Amino acid sequence: MAPAPDEHAPARLTVLSGPSGVGKGTVVAEVRHRYPDVWVSVSATTRRPRPGEVDGVHYHFVSDAEFDRLVADDGLLEWAEYAGNRYGTPAAPVRERLATGAPALLEIELQGARQVRARDADAQLVFLAPPSWAELRSRLAGRGSEPPAVRERRLAIAQAELDAAGEFDVVVVNDDVARAADELVRLLTAPTSGLSRS
Ligand code: 5GP
Repeated sequence: MAPAPDEHAPARLTVLSGPSGVGKGTVVAEVRHRYPDVWVSVSATTRRPRPGEVDGVHYHFVSDAEFDRLVADDGLLEWAEYAGNRYGTPAAPVRERLATGAPALLEIELQGARQVRARDADAQLVFLAPPSWAELRSRLAGRGSEPPAVRERRLAIAQAELDAAGEFDVVVVNDDVARAADELVRLLTAPTSGLSRS
């Protein structure tokens, strides 16, 4: 039987990670659709915007110097270098959100997920996995948004990231976007008392 919700349980930080191309963005978009109150952190990055990406919505696009300042000021909850660019989670908005008693979602890569775990033992780490390695390769190849060298680099990282799935609390297989989104909504809204790790 599911445990009764604990009204006094602290709001939970949920981290969604998974290899590039697995469909994290698509699943998060579907989560927003199903659970409009979801709050997703907007990361800072030194990467250039892709066509259609909006500053302050998809990312805070910052210069190297601005990123350096965020790190020096301890303004990031975690940060990592990924495929030649830096990415980090601004700490203050996450703290403010959790202080309201409502859950928060971060969509970040593996090194960042490990840093969050080290800082917050109660954080819930969710790994989004592709149905298969072949499927991931073809998804990355089909994306076409990156030159082949960048794609190969992301594939190499993706292979290493897949090996780390065992470090996560939950693995969600993205074989069906709607099903994966439903599972993520359930995890986001589950009472913290029912999910404690052993
Ligand atoms: P992309 O360049 O495709 O938008 O993102 C590359 C990778 O960086 C993805 O795996 C994405 O989840 C991750 N990422 C995005 N924001 C952050 C962040 O704030 N911190 C960390 N550690 N990774 C991030």
